[in-house]
Amino acid sequence: MNARQAPEFPRWPQYDTSERDGLIRALEQGQWWRMGGDEVNSFEREFADHHGAEHALAVTNGTHALELALQCMGVGPGTEVIVPAFTFISSSQAAQRLGAVAVPVDVHPDTYNIDVAAAADAITPRTKVIMPVHMAGLMADMDALAKLSADAGVAVLQDAAHAHGARWQGKRVGELGTVATFSFQNGKLMTAGEGGAVTFPDTEMYETAFLRHSCGRPRDDRRYLHQIAGSNLRLNEFSASVLRAQLRRLDEQIALRDERWTLLSQLLGAIDGVVPQSGDVRVDRRSHYMAMFRIPGITEERRNALVDRLVDAGLPAFAAFRAIYRTKAFWEIGAPDETQDAIAKRCPNTDAISQDCVWLHHRLLLAGEQEMHATAEIIADGVAAA
Ligand SMILES: *Cc1c(COP(=O)(O)O)cnc(C)c1O
Repeated sequence: MNARQAPEFPRWPQYDTSERDGLIRALEQGQWWRMGGDEVNSFEREFADHHGAEHALAVTNGTHALELALQCMGVGPGTEVIVPAFTFISSSQAAQRLGAVAVPVDVHPDTYNIDVAAAADAITPRTKVIMPVHMAGLMADMDALAKLSADAGVAVLQDAAHAHGARWQGKRVGELGTVATFSFQNGKLMTAGEGGAVTFPDTEMYETAFLRHSCGRPRDDRRYLHQIAGSNLRLNEFSASVLRAQLRRLDEQIALRDERWTLLSQLLGAIDGVVPQSGDVRVDRRSHYMAMFRIPGITEERRNALVDRLVDAGLPAFAAFRAIYRTKAFWEIGAPDETQDAIAKRCPNTDAISQDCVWLHHRLLLAGEQEMHATAEIIADGVAAA
């Protein structure tokens, strides 16, 4: 047994004195919720500015961000939301929790992003929202989606849980004219352990969302004037203080990851049987939430064994998302009136990718060039053995 061992990669999450100072500042402010303090307000302003959005609303997590955004966009019982079949389950679960039907459509085999033609085919009179997910920070085809949205009269909601800081043809997520949601869960590109945000291109929906995220209560209310149905999705001051520090590090880290991915994807592409996630020249800034690659034709069992080997060798490797229609959760509430087989038939790329794709944690891309070579060598050995 003389299998290669991986070098040490940078840890995630990262912090320095700016997070520490932020936490102390929030602590000593003496007000630990957003209604009394200033950290959440400041973070929202900074996050909105950074993404070119008119408004940002911080919330408890990315799943709640999706639920809130969908609700504000009119999603509820009797409506449908089109989602990519290859995504983290929150994309569909958020719609289903609101009593809507989540309709999965296939993704492209190279980008793993929503197939806009398939989305167009899935539109019915009940469709309220199309939800692209910018997979691993590679933005979906926002031009085709804007056209479809205008032609069909259906709104687009960007699930940007992987796409902090990403750009489409020079435009930031908030400049694309649609509502977008973000996650700040522990693994995401900026984090406070948990947390989320919704960005809005206009003030009216933002104001409604603000009310809904705070039990329907206006900002300065002292008389329990609950004006609209809602829940408590408020982020606390400590989390916001950490996120303000994380946001200041985001761009530099994205630039480094991008440089490393350029190298790593070349090295991976040179390995027999390995196909890295492709790019799209229109995505001029990719945030690289995951480093993803496929081994087309490998069985799910062998892919899983390969991931185990990579983990044993010290790589932060994971099996890709399971197709959402192949989870039990998907079928509990809000599933379409179709069989699993019928959906699978419409989603051959999703079925293949969820079996043959592997992803590496983005902290790996914060390492040096040498570490990219070591990573590719371990993957080459693993794939040869698989
Ligand atoms: C992480 C993630 C979410 C949910 O975010 P949480 O903060 O974990 O609730 C939603 N969509 C996608 C694509 C994600 O990766």
